[in-house]
Amino acid sequence: MGILTESALDDLVAAGCPCGSRRLVFRAYLDGSVPLQAGEPVGAVTWVYDGEKFIDGVYEVNCPTCTQSLVTADMCPRCHAPGGLQRALTTTNRWPVPSACPACDGDEVRYVGFIPTRVTYEEGRAGKPRSPTELGDPGFHGQRVECADCGTVAELRDRCPLCENAGPLRERPGD
Ligand SMILES: [Zn+2]
Ligand SMILES: [Zn+2]
Ligand SMILES: [Zn+2]
Repeated sequence: MGILTESALDDLVAAGCPCGSRRLVFRAYLDGSVPLQAGEPVGAVTWVYDGEKFIDGVYEVNCPTCTQSLVTADMCPRCHAPGGLQRALTTTNRWPVPSACPACDGDEVRYVGFIPTRVTYEEGRAGKPRSPTELGDPGFHGQRVECADCGTVAELRDRCPLCENAGPLRERPGD
């Protein structure tokens, strides 16, 4: 469980901010899949998280109207190491981006990363995730490679993809 539970999120969204605004901004690390060809991005990010993973990845909720933070935590959203969030947001990806599939040598793979996003809730409904963070930018961290051809999946499991904390990693809800 992250800093929010499903019922805590529902309550927050229903109540809105104490200032009266019903518009809230959630910041969350979410799973985004980037199509690669020969190691270079060739298309837009596809979001591949579900509701449980969204809640698990939230690290801040704030009100853009009065600018107060309603929920914050500095722990890593993936492994919960204290202070890990700042490390995740300010460092660049350390997991190599493959130029080809390790099994079949096909050069089209999907690189799934953790991407810091903002999601706006308005009147109780979530908007689309937005993120200026691209592969190679600080804050983007690879976690899985999927081959379009042979289906081989490689996953970073021995340490935390976000903050480099040593494993074993806790299970994420929905896995
Ligand atoms: Zn407010
Ligand atoms: Zn392959
Ligand atoms: Zn971590």
